[in-house]
Amino acid sequence: MQQADKQLSPIMKGEGPCDPCDSLPALFARHIRYGLCRGEQDKHELFNATALSVKEQMLDNWRQTRLNDNSYQQKQIAYLSLEFLMGRTLGNALLNLNLADETRTILNQYATELESIEELENDAGLGNGGLGRLAACFLDSCASLDLSVTGYGIRYQYGMFVQKIVDGYQVEQPDRWLRFGNPWEVRLPHRIVTVPFFGHTETYVDKDGKRQHVWKDTKNVLAVPYDMPIPGFNNGRINTLRLWKAEANDEFDLAEFNDGDYAEAVATKNLAEQITMVLYPNDASVNGKELRLRQQYFLSSASLQDLLNRYVSHHGEDFSQFSAKNVMQLNDTHPSIAVPELMRLLMDKYGLGWDKAWDITSQCMAYTNHTLLPEALERWPLAMMQNMLPRIVEIIFEINARYLELVAHHWPGDIQKLRDMSIIEESPQQQIRMAYLAIVASFSVNGVAGLHTKLLKSGLFNDFYQLWPEKFNNKTNGVTPRRWLAYCNPKLSSLITRRLGDEWVTDLTKLAALNAFTSDKAFVNEWAEIKLANKQALAAFVKQQCQVEFDPKMMFDVQVKRIHEYKRQLLNILHVIHLYRRILNGDTQGMVPRCVLIGGKAAPGYAMAKQIIKLANNVAHMVNSDPQVTPYLRMAFLPNYNVSAMEKICPGTDLSEQISTAGKEASGTGNMKFMMNGALTIGTLDGANIEMLEEVGEDNFFLFGLNAEQVSQTKSHYNPQQIINQSAALTGVMDMLSSGHFNLVEPGIFDHIIASIKEPHDQWMTAADFDSYRLAQEAVAATYLNQEKWQKISIRNTACSGRFSSDNTIAGYRDEIWMKK
Ligand SMILES: *Cc1c(COP(=O)(O)O)cnc(C)c1O
Repeated sequence: MQQADKQLSPIMKGEGPCDPCDSLPALFARHIRYGLCRGEQDKHELFNATALSVKEQMLDNWRQTRLNDNSYQQKQIAYLSLEFLMGRTLGNALLNLNLADETRTILNQYATELESIEELENDAGLGNGGLGRLAACFLDSCASLDLSVTGYGIRYQYGMFVQKIVDGYQVEQPDRWLRFGNPWEVRLPHRIVTVPFFGHTETYVDKDGKRQHVWKDTKNVLAVPYDMPIPGFNNGRINTLRLWKAEANDEFDLAEFNDGDYAEAVATKNLAEQITMVLYPNDASVNGKELRLRQQYFLSSASLQDLLNRYVSHHGEDFSQFSAKNVMQLNDTHPSIAVPELMRLLMDKYGLGWDKAWDITSQCMAYTNHTLLPEALERWPLAMMQNMLPRIVEIIFEINARYLELVAHHWPGDIQKLRDMSIIEESPQQQIRMAYLAIVASFSVNGVAGLHTKLLKSGLFNDFYQLWPEKFNNKTNGVTPRRWLAYCNPKLSSLITRRLGDEWVTDLTKLAALNAFTSDKAFVNEWAEIKLANKQALAAFVKQQCQVEFDPKMMFDVQVKRIHEYKRQLLNILHVIHLYRRILNGDTQGMVPRCVLIGGKAAPGYAMAKQIIKLANNVAHMVNSDPQVTPYLRMAFLPNYNVSAMEKICPGTDLSEQISTAGKEASGTGNMKFMMNGALTIGTLDGANIEMLEEVGEDNFFLFGLNAEQVSQTKSHYNPQQIINQSAALTGVMDMLSSGHFNLVEPGIFDHIIASIKEPHDQWMTAADFDSYRLAQEAVAATYLNQEKWQKISIRNTACSGRFSSDNTIAGYRDEIWMKK
């Protein structure tokens, strides 16, 4: 390896290959001729040949990137995440590698459009929603900023479930995304590591008189890495997303094999492989299943062993440089078991003492918090962890004991403080508080938007903020402008590039120059025409997916995101019912014809979210089947919202709904994708909406509702029934809902939803914001009627979206977290 370092050839930037046999057309022709062996070329074969030859085009630079990084000249960042919501790879790779035109030409020789080939790729749906998509956007930005960042995740055999809608209800189907293989991945059997589970611990005194710990009689599982290439934008860097697959360890079954129970022994292999079988579909809530803890430890242990192996092969077992050369960014607490695992590996495998191991660990770990919702804070039962990971529990106890001394020193005599801040929660069933473990061990703790970080410091983590104010920092989320503008909206991108040049693709603040064009008539017209064309494409998609006709002349009002009470799809539906009533009553004065699109998946165990989906579908059905209504209002629920769907949705959206209860949405990133593509936002003062409003200005954002402070002050005396009584509009909506108008043949199915709105303990305060929301929607309509004004505001939204590039976010992580210490 050291030898190879000295003979590195430079990374090739957009230059052709040295050997014509390596050109894209040659690689493609070879796959068609020899690779697939199927006879005639169907589209799937063309997709595979395309993907494989594009991957091969990356191999030289991929290898070179790895060799360069192995010299450890740059600090090595590991982004640890249980979720990477990558979506499709082909289109984005072609953009970043500048190979789209060449590929188009090749495919045209087979009378095939590139777009039709792209449609054949399954989404890599290895994530739930915002948190997993953030990880994917970050990987794109890190590679494009030439940072040496490796994503570490799990290669789930089944990603996020496929959502079907049957009779208005969500039905979950398994996502068999690997059924036809994954042309992008490379299996690396020579980098397999072994992850231990169960067993017990023993201590002994070694020859130097030191107490040593051994973890014995473990059941071991193999972790096999599968690498996916992450190309930077036009810079020759190819980073790696390393996804671990669990496989059975043959020696582990030997005892049973010798007992003669061969079939049983082979069958137990499945138990090992189950670890990476399926992604848990919970967003913003936890699943306390033992298998989930196994996944977390499996990912953490495999990734750290991989990092340490790599370090040791270049530095030997001298760990004095380790913390200067490595950072592990924990995407939420999901991989936070990496804290005691790194301690274990450094002490038990490499023989370091506690203090040295702790110095290293606490200088390497950085933790990103993603939510304030208590139901999303991970706690693992001590008994479960004790059984599964006995050595890890010993280490957590030792970390806790030492850290509580610090707490006792800071708050002398305050026993309650010790209880409150302990990593071990002293409930009847003792629990390990994973967020506390992460904070104690991390040199950086960040929230994901200004308001969110402020609330972390003043509320949830206030004790920790008092102890370690220097650890806390904000990194407002962002989205990659490559996928979310350059790739998904080619018409708008081309217009922008014709006016501004193409620098905006890597420096999104350049879009600010669009503000100068808001009074250029030709430009504004072209802007509007592109939106119309994108709406036509979205209407075709909605027609195909929902069998509902959307008319591109109407306003497209869109809310797509996971279905959760805090995101308040219900508020949106109540507003649709309000418009529907107005139309039935002949009150269409000032109304703008609109098409309302709602989409998103509910966690399979989240009953209320599933009822909200059913309500959306039933309301849509009533609205769409009344010819008196459809000239003014249409509604569709889009099944199976995912990354590739969003690529079609955000370019064709007029109005973006970001209407969460203030203080509950940590950041949001859907809001940013819409803004970049020129949608106007109706939203609350929540998450990154606040920063979007700051950028675009109050006149260009439809703000409504209580702010976070008002929400928390209202809590003690919230009286929704009184609010309903005082609002004629809301009374009308509630009466219509309660009358069974939307569930004539399904009596009672919405009772729970109706009761939740009237419930004084309704955390989401849907009733409180209804009138304010309704009035803001009237302002939306009034603005939309003035198309010239609307288009100017649309341009302004794109122009002001530069701050929300994940390149900007990652530059912050780089300068203020990763390279700082
Ligand atoms: C961007 C994105 C999200 C996050 O959306 P929010 O509105 O921020 O919750 C979720 N799912 C997919 C598929 C996305 O592309």
